[in-house]
Amino acid sequence: MKPTFQNFTIIVNWQIKGFGCAKVCSYCNWRDSPQLPHGGQNPKDISTFIAKCDKSFITISGGADPLYKFEEYGPQLLAMIQTIKEQGFKVRIITREIQHVAKLKGIVDYISISLDPDVLTEIERYQQEWMGIDIDYSLVLPPLPTAALVRLKPQYLALSGQLGKRLVLRENLNSIFPLDFSKLTFGHSGIVFVAKALCLASRYLTTVDCVGYDLVQDGERLANYVMNERRLHLFGGFVKHLINPCVHPEYSDIDMIALDADVMRILEGEFAYTFKDVSKSATSYPRYFLGKSTRSGKTIQLILMNTPADAAKFIAGAQYDVDRVTFSNGHFNFDSIVGEQAIRHAINTKQAHLLDDDRDVSLFNVNRPLVEQRHKIKLLRRGFTIND
Ligand code: SF4
Repeated sequence: MKPTFQNFTIIVNWQIKGFGCAKVCSYCNWRDSPQLPHGGQNPKDISTFIAKCDKSFITISGGADPLYKFEEYGPQLLAMIQTIKEQGFKVRIITREIQHVAKLKGIVDYISISLDPDVLTEIERYQQEWMGIDIDYSLVLPPLPTAALVRLKPQYLALSGQLGKRLVLRENLNSIFPLDFSKLTFGHSGIVFVAKALCLASRYLTTVDCVGYDLVQDGERLANYVMNERRLHLFGGFVKHLINPCVHPEYSDIDMIALDADVMRILEGEFAYTFKDVSKSATSYPRYFLGKSTRSGKTIQLILMNTPADAAKFIAGAQYDVDRVTFSNGHFNFDSIVGEQAIRHAINTKQAHLLDDDRDVSLFNVNRPLVEQRHKIKLLRRGFTIND
């Protein structure tokens, strides 16, 4: 069997301060990453890093976009390319700044163009200039289960025909659903699915020399833990994503109620989180914690409570029906007063109904009206209709 060597990627962010990419992709793992470099990389560090590579090429990638403000940062990129070529490697660049691609003709060996709706509409304008450059296209898949992605295969086939080049479909690093790649083949190499394990096992030069698993949270592994931990009750956007990932493909933070502080220690040890107590006062109950990981990934909003009865009371006090459900230890728990069918329907149709039942709000803090106001705005931004 042919040995598979690790990919070696140099992460760039030319901006000394901030993030050198013009886009704002919801799945971007780099914008707030503590490992994001700022400014050019040291040629000595680059040489030491690439000397360990067994492949014939080195990739230069975001981080931010390598071709961002090419007029300003191009000389730094060209110096990096020269350092790599002097050691006998080919160079591959991943970019969305397609207006600069032709400037790299004869300078780099491969270019992979990351697709998004803006890039797709602009390709035709530049394609003529790309004759003689080895180009392929890559697309990050939506974070959906295999069955939902299988339904999208005809669209990918049509896209590949329209592009006329190899199309690489990359598993979303934030996806929590295991994919069955045997169902995701096209029978030829014109379109390929790339598993996230390949990226997570690859070697990266960021501010340090590391592998993908050190940089990016494996969302599936984290989900596997929190969904099967009996001392956790998950709620909010994550649970809506579990109920209907096609209607709710994105969630921001992971909201959870923990019944034991030991859960935070596990999340710290296994998933590199640090928790900060953000409760309003030293004695208030329940306790609120904000968890951030050194690996790029989701922030955790954790509420520490004493009993399952308190967790149930907290969720039963939610203002809208779409929020009256939790997931714990492999099971959904729907508020029995509203009922499973009504809650599922509200989530599936993005219709939130204000509940005028006699809510018990004794576990909410004094800022709850403000929290509920913000939550309503968040739901509206996500496309919910609010039936007050
Ligand atoms: S284009 Fe890439 S670097 Fe820029 S925001 Fe999107 S994912 Fe992040």
